[in-house]
Amino acid sequence: VTFPQKLPAQMLSVSEAQGRILSYFSAVDSVAIPIQESVGRVLSEDIIATLDLPAFNNSAVDGFAVKLSDLKDVHRDNPVRLKVVADIPAGSDSVVTLSSGQTARIMTGALVPENAEAIVPVEDTDFNYRQLGMAIPETVGFYQEPDLGAHIRSLGEDVRMGERVLAAGKVIRPQDIGFLSMLGIPKVHVRRKPQIAIFSTGDELLPVETPLSPGKIHDSNSYMLKALVEQLGADAWQIGIVPDQAEAVEDCLDRAVLQRVDLILSSAGVSVGAFDFVRSVVERNGSLDFWRVNMRPGKPLAFGNYKGFPFIGLPGNPVSAYVGFEIFVRPAILKMLDLSNTRQPLFKAQLLEDVISDGRESYLRGVITEKDGQFVARLTGHQGSGNLLSLVQGNALLIIPAKVKSLPAGSEVDFRLISGSEC
Ligand code: AMP
Ligand code: MG
Repeated sequence: VTFPQKLPAQMLSVSEAQGRILSYFSAVDSVAIPIQESVGRVLSEDIIATLDLPAFNNSAVDGFAVKLSDLKDVHRDNPVRLKVVADIPAGSDSVVTLSSGQTARIMTGALVPENAEAIVPVEDTDFNYRQLGMAIPETVGFYQEPDLGAHIRSLGEDVRMGERVLAAGKVIRPQDIGFLSMLGIPKVHVRRKPQIAIFSTGDELLPVETPLSPGKIHDSNSYMLKALVEQLGADAWQIGIVPDQAEAVEDCLDRAVLQRVDLILSSAGVSVGAFDFVRSVVERNGSLDFWRVNMRPGKPLAFGNYKGFPFIGLPGNPVSAYVGFEIFVRPAILKMLDLSNTRQPLFKAQLLEDVISDGRESYLRGVITEKDGQFVARLTGHQGSGNLLSLVQGNALLIIPAKVKSLPAGSEVDFRLISGSEC
């Protein structure tokens, strides 16, 4: 007997579902914060250099500042002695001018005398000492003719005032912070952290601290989702476990609304036949679409708003909740952070084993290793959507496209690394 294939009305492709969710979100507003707190945050302004860098001509070495006319034709057999008329440490603001026959000892980073044309490193002179406190000699001998500008870091050679040095939308890294402080910029505007409320639904759920009793399981989704949210640079607020009761669900959602969160994220209670209190409460106070997404795991997905606040209901099975987050919630949070162009890169690997799928776009848990300069992939044991160990042991999601039902060993497969993993 063959049954006619009947697609329910709301069966969406992964990219359709992603698109519908994304269109609902936009970048959050900005806040000014000290650069000391800015690592990992997203710049919301262009940074324009307010200084030339270096801000003054300075020496790149410990040595002696000279005028080229004093060292014409100097070489090993024809050394020249110049009179040392100044000692210029880093930080000194005294402006020295050299007359002919004169030199000044100068330290790395110190202001170069106005008319000096090169610095000769101390090791290229007959005064090869760097000890602090060692008195400068009266004269010093030179053995070679330096090039014009040698060992001088000149004003503005790195950065020109007015140049755009960092662009809005960039994630701030440690070297960017060093650079901002070089420019004397103590504060920057960044996107504020999106605020995400997270709760779990289900009478079977216990917090991690509570020992199990018959019929109960530990809530794992809300802990995992909180970590996923924080890894992206948003703030997660774990509201907790909500029993399967309308008032409890409503109370929890109202708490999220009071905090004016940017997104309410729940898990479970979206599959057909679930005791569905989330559905009735959200629908009464906003709207909720239940989608069947053509993917595995994570087919059921709810999306809507509660009193105007965006709501995403992920499936309850932990692997499904994880994959649902990665595919639907991650892009939404990245958009809130103005990082819409950030995509999880896709790579290709060769399958080490046969893989069967069911025609839905599948995200299978796998391990990628490198063999002979190529990525190879195997599955991490059984792929049940409750088996979180398959994700714990995996470092990648292998992506089997829609309509493909099997791939033999040796085929090429797309994968994306699970964030925080390496291969
Ligand atoms: P449901 O969507 O409520 O039918 O849940 C689907 C499956 O996921 C059931 O086996 C639940 O016990 C399980 N589940 C639901 N929520 C969680 C959670 N927060 N942590 C771990 N498992 C869960
Ligand atoms: Mg449930």
